[in-house]
Amino acid sequence: MARVRSKDTDSEIRLRKVLWQKGLRYRVRFKLPGTPDIAFVKKRVAVFVDGCFWHGCPVHYRAPMSNAEFWTEKLRINVNRDRLADSRLNEMGWAVVRVWAHEVNDDISQVIQRITKAVTATTDN
Ligand SMILES: [Zn+2]
Repeated sequence: MARVRSKDTDSEIRLRKVLWQKGLRYRVRFKLPGTPDIAFVKKRVAVFVDGCFWHGCPVHYRAPMSNAEFWTEKLRINVNRDRLADSRLNEMGWAVVRVWAHEVNDDISQVIQRITKAVTATTDN
């Protein structure tokens, strides 16, 4: 599990690096519901890099063979928490962009595009 976790963090760091190189300025782990990994505060765009295992990626999540029930419940709680954070953020006027860790690894330009689109779509006020 430690391996999964560190790989997720790598994707997040990689994404932040590229965003920064593109001239996008953000805050890390800004105090908001769900603690977004990346937050464009003025633009009110919150970005989450969801780990494939912890957040139940449809492509990569496999329930571990042992303790299946425990993991299924844990996943359910995580996903519920994600959805709750999304709706809280929306209520506060924030746009939410969620990307899977594997998307960052497989096709980072697509991810950057989605984020850039969200950031430029909003107006600052
Ligand atoms: Zn995945």
